[in-house]
Amino acid sequence: MLFNALAAKAPPSGGDYTKDGLIFCGKCNTPKQCRTVVDGEEIVYSVWCDCMKRADAEEKRQRKEIERAFKTAELRRLSMMGNKLSKCTFLGADKGGDNARSFKICERYVEKFPQMLKDNRGLLLFGGVGTGKTFAAACVANAMLEQNYSVVMTSLVTLIDGTDEIIRRMNEIDLLILDDLGAERSTDYGFERIYAVCDARYRSNKPVIYTSNLPLDAFKHAEDIRCARIYDRVLERCYPVEFRGVSRRKREAWRGFEEMNELLDV
Ligand SMILES: [Zn+2]
Repeated sequence: MLFNALAAKAPPSGGDYTKDGLIFCGKCNTPKQCRTVVDGEEIVYSVWCDCMKRADAEEKRQRKEIERAFKTAELRRLSMMGNKLSKCTFLGADKGGDNARSFKICERYVEKFPQMLKDNRGLLLFGGVGTGKTFAAACVANAMLEQNYSVVMTSLVTLIDGTDEIIRRMNEIDLLILDDLGAERSTDYGFERIYAVCDARYRSNKPVIYTSNLPLDAFKHAEDIRCARIYDRVLERCYPVEFRGVSRRKREAWRGFEEMNELLDV
């Protein structure tokens, strides 16, 4: 029985009528009042008729929908998929050269994702700056999104500033891609937050793909105990895939240098 403060506020509907001394709704023909006996005295109190209960349920549903839309927007804001990374696809990837095998592994990962999800298996894409590991991670993300999996790709640096609620929401996502592990601020607070993110995901038993500029050895033999406990989690769940080759940025810098050489070499 709903004791009702709102009933008083409800606009009196024209069709309301009285039956057996109680007010009934003219629209749904259910009572707007009930009676009971307290200490031998009969009292009449207001209740919600069916249409008021329905209106209340509808209002709650709408509020929930707004909350959900807000959370999705919040996730999208944190995800980097909105920018140029959203255009990275395996089709457009240069899969020859040094990283042919690494790209192949990433493609296989997408093919085998149902199994990967079941076993909580992720990847650690590591290698120097500009070798294409972030690009490869974005290719995986887009391929997964195409198959209607939920994917968020973001940097750990962004997540450090995320709320606990955001970290919790991250665990509902099928595939989380965390870019640039090892580039975060090395404060106790930073490490604490990163550990919280990795650990929450680990416990939720869902895969993560990490990218990192660090060499594999840095993960295996971290001297800093704060790093070590994060990296142990990573290595336990993620298959390491190396990206090699001349860094694109280095190549551009080199081209610039060559042009300058030509200009200056009269
Ligand atoms: Zn009614």
